[in-house]
Amino acid sequence: MADFTDIVDFVHSLYGTRDFVPLSVPKFVGNEKKYLEECIDTTFVSSVGKFVDRFEEEIAQYTGAKKAVVCVSGTNALHMSLMLCGIKRDDEVLTQALTFIATCNALSYIGAHPVFIDVDRTTMGLSPNAMKEWLVKNTRIKNGECYNKNTGRRVKACIPMHTFGHPVRIEEIIQLCFEYHLELIEDAAESIGSKYKGQHTGTFGKVGAISFNGNKTITTGGGGMMLFQDEELGMLAKHITTQAKVPHRWEFVHDQVGYNYRMPNINAAIGCAQLEHLDEFIASKRKIAKEYAAFFKNIDNIDFFEEPEDCFSNYWLNAVILKDKATQLEFLEYTNDNGIMTRPIWELMNRLPMFRHCQNDGLKNTFWFADRVVNIPSSVRLE
Ligand SMILES: *Cc1c(COP(=O)(O)O)cnc(C)c1O
Repeated sequence: MADFTDIVDFVHSLYGTRDFVPLSVPKFVGNEKKYLEECIDTTFVSSVGKFVDRFEEEIAQYTGAKKAVVCVSGTNALHMSLMLCGIKRDDEVLTQALTFIATCNALSYIGAHPVFIDVDRTTMGLSPNAMKEWLVKNTRIKNGECYNKNTGRRVKACIPMHTFGHPVRIEEIIQLCFEYHLELIEDAAESIGSKYKGQHTGTFGKVGAISFNGNKTITTGGGGMMLFQDEELGMLAKHITTQAKVPHRWEFVHDQVGYNYRMPNINAAIGCAQLEHLDEFIASKRKIAKEYAAFFKNIDNIDFFEEPEDCFSNYWLNAVILKDKATQLEFLEYTNDNGIMTRPIWELMNRLPMFRHCQNDGLKNTFWFADRVVNIPSSVRLE
């Protein structure tokens, strides 16, 4: 068994405790209670209330999106994004095998098929090189649409995911989406505050989906948000996530099948309070990442994963790259036995029973990461 004593000691000192150090827990240090009390006192706890509008406006302002629309989870933000972009049953969508299950579940809800494309070693996100190679080899354009030559299905969209808050090479992906007539939807669930060349992740595609689950950089308990540059599409998103009710003072008329996906006011209230501290949280996460980077420089055979070039990462979850699968397992065992919560990257989507049959491009880097990545404690630390 390798000796990881120094690492365990370092993480304990980083968080100033000898107790158990979790991976990522929320911080409530501001107006959360005050805003929640306001919801209860005014009885606006549910689907109507000022915090919902305020949260949407503030997130739009923060990210630079033209419009932001709340949802009850990041997963249904993705589901709605796909519907709004016209992805249909039996369409194929390029995405990563190295992602959280929500990306693929959203595709399954509408009967679309994921095609797993490899990731870059520099970003851990969808590789434009691998994407291009797959498109050149497997598709042809017919009447302004992209078709898979092997399956005959339409290839309709691409969903890159900004893994652990590190932005993908989005400019090159945008170019490929343009050339191959693909809609671009960003899974920005993990990357609030992360930027590519100064522009916020989630604002490059037709829609970007953010998550406010309890383990994310800021939380609403549970919740999500869609980001739009097209204001009209944003209005449509608002409409279909609120039961497609036609606005009227007393009549209940609905003009299409809608969804009850609107975030309740109490969750938005927490979100507004959290957002007031987002920049401070990110500064803390980046400082922790810097300390980790300096520490791991002196440790043989373990690399700390740093933000890609031209990017500003929120460092949602810190990651180290171990030497091989055996060392990864030893590291996981030692740290978890000694009060430091760590975990491997998600089981790859192409290894799960629901997606085992899906096409993939060989996934060279994806498998490489799966055998080596371990996430280490990343919670915000406030002095
Ligand atoms: C967290 C997350 C989501 C959304 O999760 P919810 O729990 O539904 O908010 C989607 N994709 C990725 C990659 C995530 O990490």
